[in-house]
Amino acid sequence: MNGDGRSRRDLLRGLGGVAFALGGVAACSKKERAQFSCTETAGLAPDEASARATLAYAEPTPDKMRTCDSCQQYVAASSDGACGTCKVLKGPVHPNGTCKVFTAKPA
Ligand code: SF4
Repeated sequence: MNGDGRSRRDLLRGLGGVAFALGGVAACSKKERAQFSCTETAGLAPDEASARATLAYAEPTPDKMRTCDSCQQYVAASSDGACGTCKVLKGPVHPNGTCKVFTAKPA
């Protein structure tokens, strides 16, 4: 027991609850980010749509070091959870996407 009447076990239970809650927040953020897709190409011209395949646009990126939101060509959406755009590829672009012409933002 501590001086205030709580045992070490009670303290650890409390810390476990905080860690669980924080983990839940982090998981929700990742989940929210993954819950939308930016692959809709219905409004694009055929050559614009095929350029996405030619440049191997993919989401999510297989390489976490090469994400659209860390690329010089990415134009972020005005709100979280929405598709951005790209200066190279036409159509919606996911912040966690990538393609062959990824160009890292300057450090
Ligand atoms: S150039 Fe490629 S990696 Fe860069 S923002 Fe556009 S689609 Fe994403």
